[in-house]
Amino acid sequence: MKCKKAQKYLTAFVDGELRGRWRRVALKRHLDNCVPCQRMLAIQRQIKHLLQTRVRRVKTPDNLKNNIRRLLHDQFLKGGETHETHKDPSGRSKTQIS
Ligand SMILES: [Zn+2]
Repeated sequence: MKCKKAQKYLTAFVDGELRGRWRRVALKRHLDNCVPCQRMLAIQRQIKHLLQTRVRRVKTPDNLKNNIRRLLHDQFLKGGETHETHKDPSGRSKTQIS
Protein backbone atom coordinates (compact mmCIF):
# COMPACT_ATOMS: atom_id res chain seq x y z
CA MET A 1 0.00 0.00 0.00
CA LYS A 2 1.26 3.46 -0.90
CA CYS A 3 1.21 6.42 1.50
CA LYS A 4 -1.33 8.25 -0.62
CA LYS A 5 -3.79 5.38 -0.35
CA ALA A 6 -3.04 4.79 3.31
CA GLN A 7 -3.73 8.42 4.19
CA LYS A 8 -6.95 8.30 2.24
CA TYR A 9 -8.12 5.48 4.54
CA LEU A 10 -6.85 7.03 7.76
CA THR A 11 -9.93 9.12 8.54
CA ALA A 12 -12.26 6.18 8.13
CA PHE A 13 -9.84 4.00 10.08
CA VAL A 14 -9.77 6.43 13.01
CA ASP A 15 -13.57 6.54 12.96
CA GLY A 16 -13.69 2.75 12.95
CA GLU A 17 -15.51 2.89 9.63
CA LEU A 18 -12.89 1.46 7.30
CA ARG A 19 -14.64 -1.35 5.50
CA GLY A 20 -12.92 -4.55 4.45
CA ARG A 21 -10.66 -6.55 6.71
CA TRP A 22 -7.88 -6.70 4.12
CA ARG A 23 -7.84 -2.91 3.94
CA ARG A 24 -7.40 -2.59 7.68
CA VAL A 25 -4.68 -5.25 7.66
CA ALA A 26 -2.88 -3.59 4.75
CA LEU A 27 -3.19 -0.20 6.40
CA LYS A 28 -1.86 -1.46 9.73
CA ARG A 29 1.01 -3.19 7.95
CA HIS A 30 1.82 0.05 6.16
CA LEU A 31 1.58 2.04 9.39
CA ASP A 32 4.03 -0.31 11.10
CA ASN A 33 6.70 0.63 8.59
CA CYS A 34 5.87 4.23 7.72
CA VAL A 35 6.63 7.06 10.13
CA PRO A 36 4.94 9.87 8.12
CA CYS A 37 1.68 7.88 8.05
CA GLN A 38 2.00 7.13 11.76
CA ARG A 39 2.24 10.88 12.34
CA MET A 40 -0.75 11.40 10.10
CA LEU A 41 -2.68 8.83 12.14
CA ALA A 42 -1.75 10.63 15.35
CA ILE A 43 -2.94 13.93 13.86
CA GLN A 44 -6.22 12.39 12.73
CA ARG A 45 -6.78 10.98 16.22
CA GLN A 46 -6.04 14.37 17.77
CA ILE A 47 -8.52 16.04 15.41
CA LYS A 48 -11.16 13.47 16.26
CA HIS A 49 -10.51 13.92 19.96
CA LEU A 50 -10.64 17.71 19.67
CA LEU A 51 -13.89 17.57 17.73
CA GLN A 52 -15.45 15.28 20.31
CA THR A 53 -14.37 17.31 23.33
CA ARG A 54 -14.62 20.88 22.03
CA VAL A 55 -17.70 20.78 19.84
CA ARG A 56 -19.92 19.74 22.73
CA ARG A 57 -18.83 22.73 24.76
CA VAL A 58 -19.86 25.29 22.15
CA LYS A 59 -23.09 26.88 23.33
CA THR A 60 -25.72 27.70 20.76
CA PRO A 61 -26.44 31.44 20.88
CA ASP A 62 -29.92 32.23 22.22
CA ASN A 63 -31.01 34.20 19.15
CA LEU A 64 -30.04 31.27 16.91
CA LYS A 65 -31.95 28.89 19.17
CA ASN A 66 -35.00 31.14 18.99
CA ASN A 67 -34.75 31.38 15.20
CA ILE A 68 -34.57 27.61 14.89
CA ARG A 69 -37.50 27.17 17.27
CA ARG A 70 -39.56 29.70 15.32
CA LEU A 71 -38.70 28.02 12.01
CA LEU A 72 -39.58 24.60 13.39
CA HIS A 73 -42.78 25.98 14.87
CA ASP A 74 -43.76 27.60 11.54
CA GLN A 75 -42.98 24.39 9.68
CA PHE A 76 -44.98 22.39 12.17
CA LEU A 77 -47.96 24.72 11.86
CA LYS A 78 -47.79 24.60 8.07
CA GLY A 79 -47.63 20.81 8.15
CA GLY A 80 -50.47 20.76 10.64
CA GLU A 81 -52.70 22.84 8.39
CA THR A 82 -52.41 20.51 5.45
CA HIS A 83 -52.38 17.19 7.30
CA GLU A 84 -54.46 17.80 10.43
CA THR A 85 -57.35 19.82 8.96
CA HIS A 86 -59.84 17.02 9.20
CA LYS A 87 -58.59 15.75 12.54
CA ASP A 88 -58.64 19.08 14.39
CA PRO A 89 -61.74 19.04 16.59
CA SER A 90 -61.58 22.79 17.30
CA GLY A 91 -61.94 23.62 13.62
CA ARG A 92 -59.25 26.27 14.02
CA SER A 93 -57.25 24.98 11.07
CA LYS A 94 -60.28 24.97 8.80
CA THR A 95 -61.05 28.62 9.49
CA GLN A 96 -57.41 29.54 8.91
CA ILE A 97 -57.38 27.88 5.49
CA SER A 98 -60.75 29.16 4.22
ZN1 LIG B 1 3.00 5.87 4.48
